[in-house]
Amino acid sequence: MKALVKAKSERGLWLQDVPEPTIGINDVLIRVHKTGICGTDLHIYKWDAWAQRTIPVPMVVGHEFVGEVVEVGSNVSDFHPGEIVSAEGHVVCGRCRNCLAGRRHLCKDTVGIGVNRTGAFAEYISVPMTNVWHHRDDVDKEVASIFDPFGNAVHTALAFEVLGEDVLITGAGPIGIMAAAVVKHAGARHVVVTDVNDYRLDLAKKMGATVALNVTRGSLADVQKKLGIREGFDVGLEMSGNPQAFRDMIDNMCHGGRIAMLGIPSEQIAIDWTKVVFNMLTIHGIYGREMYETWYQMTVMLETGLDIKPVITHRYHYTEFEKGFAAMESGQSGKVILDWQT
Ligand code: NAD
Ligand code: ZN
Repeated sequence: MKALVKAKSERGLWLQDVPEPTIGINDVLIRVHKTGICGTDLHIYKWDAWAQRTIPVPMVVGHEFVGEVVEVGSNVSDFHPGEIVSAEGHVVCGRCRNCLAGRRHLCKDTVGIGVNRTGAFAEYISVPMTNVWHHRDDVDKEVASIFDPFGNAVHTALAFEVLGEDVLITGAGPIGIMAAAVVKHAGARHVVVTDVNDYRLDLAKKMGATVALNVTRGSLADVQKKLGIREGFDVGLEMSGNPQAFRDMIDNMCHGGRIAMLGIPSEQIAIDWTKVVFNMLTIHGIYGREMYETWYQMTVMLETGLDIKPVITHRYHYTEFEKGFAAMESGQSGKVILDWQT
């Protein structure tokens, strides 16, 4: 089968013929239809310091996908050939304290599809049945292919109550943009999204942001005045990983404000801790998606009219993957989708 392989310890990915995956008794074999390119895949493509430390070579990469079940192991009775599915990208141990308590997103032995084990940028992938999510028959397949990052957005956006609240989102990457749509859908009052990239801020507007602020040209203090927010933002969603964005957020929260932090800083960030202490801010880290409450929430929000489709801006056949990665690297893109059906 064809697959995108990290075949060499240098910049790039290589389209290669690799053996089709085999399945164990608890596994599901899936024919991949569409995949999303994640920021993680771009790190692997660019072969930055994190990728060099983390990714075994050679390995098939990619973890955002939708496909069709083609075969199941002898122990699998919940999935059947022909069903449309995605997979949770974190494979957990099932035996640690958190897994046994049903808090699988907190597993201490999490293994990432397309990061630590064979990925989804391929014609077929085999995953454990406990990782498979069954979509509704009429699901939009492009939307289904990005349930993984959509789930990051939902997990973060719903970490705190947002009904009637003013929400600040720092970072208008694909996840920040989807989070704007999610908190709007969940009843937030004002949703302010910041970035330094106008293309992405325009997308944030399309997805429901009240104000999309380019922080190189304006300040959050002015936005608060304009919107009549008198005491600061109630909820903050940090989705940039940028130190200054995080500091701006802390400066603009109300007393008792709650921050959910998804963005991964590339270095340690110094902040004014007195503001955290005296203003009694809560800072809550977010990793992955809750298995499977987040997946349930995504499904029902789509059923009740949430539209995340505008976040998808580029579509290519998998043989044109270089164009997809170039679009990602340019920053002039939302989600980029690769089609694996010929
Ligand atoms: P992305 O890199 O596409 O988006 C980040 C955005 O932040 C970019 O548009 C960038 O221009 C913007 N930015 C840069 N400087 C800024 C500033 N000063 N103020 C405001 N915005 C600024 O990332 P993404 O794919 O949307 O993911 C969002 C973040 O979440 C990333 O940091 C990613 O690494 C992280 N992430 C975490 C998890 C997790 O499980 N915790 C999962 C997926 C992604
Ligand atoms: Zn575990």
